[in-house]
Amino acid sequence: MIPFVDLKTQYASIKPEVDAAIQRTLETCLFTLGDEVAAFEKEFAAYSQAAFGAGVNTGTSALHLGLLAAGIGPGDEVITSPFTFVATVAAIYYTGATPVLVDIDPATYTIDPAQIEAAITPATKAIIPIHLYGQPADMDPIIAIARKHGLTVLEDACQAHGAEYKGKRVGAIGDMAAFSFYPGKNLGAYGEGGMLTTDNAKHNRAVRMLRDWGAERRYHHELKGYNYRLEGLQGSVLRVKLRYLDLWTERRRAIAARYDTMFAGTGLPTPFVRSDVRHVYHIYAIRTPDRASWQEALNTQGIQSGIHYPIPVHLLPAYADLGYRQGQFPHAERAAAEVLSLPMFAEFTEQQQDVVVAAVKELQASV
Ligand SMILES: *Cc1c(COP(=O)(O)O)cnc(C)c1O
Repeated sequence: MIPFVDLKTQYASIKPEVDAAIQRTLETCLFTLGDEVAAFEKEFAAYSQAAFGAGVNTGTSALHLGLLAAGIGPGDEVITSPFTFVATVAAIYYTGATPVLVDIDPATYTIDPAQIEAAITPATKAIIPIHLYGQPADMDPIIAIARKHGLTVLEDACQAHGAEYKGKRVGAIGDMAAFSFYPGKNLGAYGEGGMLTTDNAKHNRAVRMLRDWGAERRYHHELKGYNYRLEGLQGSVLRVKLRYLDLWTERRRAIAARYDTMFAGTGLPTPFVRSDVRHVYHIYAIRTPDRASWQEALNTQGIQSGIHYPIPVHLLPAYADLGYRQGQFPHAERAAAEVLSLPMFAEFTEQQQDVVVAAVKELQASV
């Protein structure tokens, strides 16, 4: 079987260091926040070229608290795109604000800046561009629009640890960025985790308070907060894994380049990458109108694949109340119908990749 991701092989490659880090935390008994989390916050913020990092329990919480730190609440509107994991839109709902959707650029799958201004109303307070699959959204025009209209830009960087836009890491290109350390992400905890990065000291302070019941001093609650703390064990594991992230990312990029080369000339649509970004390939997605039969054929040969994501948010039953219709975001809808994610992880071997490429090429040849 060729897995879509292989966390066991990765653990085996770093087991002594991870086990020692976990042991250390067990002995200090600093299970929520604590020294390891504080150290990881500094290290990950530096890695992301941001002044501050606030560890939280999930990427979803980082999005939620980032919006709250910007003062967003009921009556406000937040712009994002429908081709994403549901968490982006859910986090907007958590604040009481209304999500307003804008279609994607069909080449990069990220929000189309040219369509943002038409969606702005007097109630608009923020834009959440999603660095989908590990490729940064086109941030310059997004930030220019945000400045013109006085909006906050919160990057959904949950799939984009270490990605770069015009030479700068994602994390503080916008006002804030939300990262996820869900196990399958490019930097994954051994459980759940997330972080809000920013250069803005006020936003950092607000998120640090909100994640821990709205108090800086215990029992002196200044804000209505949450229990969104990052666990000490996760902090200690993430510190070990962060030291390998660049190595793993370079492996992902090499695997992507090899897929591109091996598929060249077959007519298969491979990922479009902007010339001014460092794509970190959380996902390597091809496109085919015959996706269901391709996925089935791959499955029969023991090759796992994925679909990120089969239904755009505006067509999900849970968000029917947004009032959008089929046909309203044609690029997102078409991408959702055609994308197919191939195995992509740092430990993927060339032999495994050869098997995947041969199977996909055979499917493409029969089109
Ligand atoms: C994973 C992910 C999230 C949510 O992160 P969690 O840690 O699972 O809460 C949000 N947005 C995107 C684009 C993601 O991929």
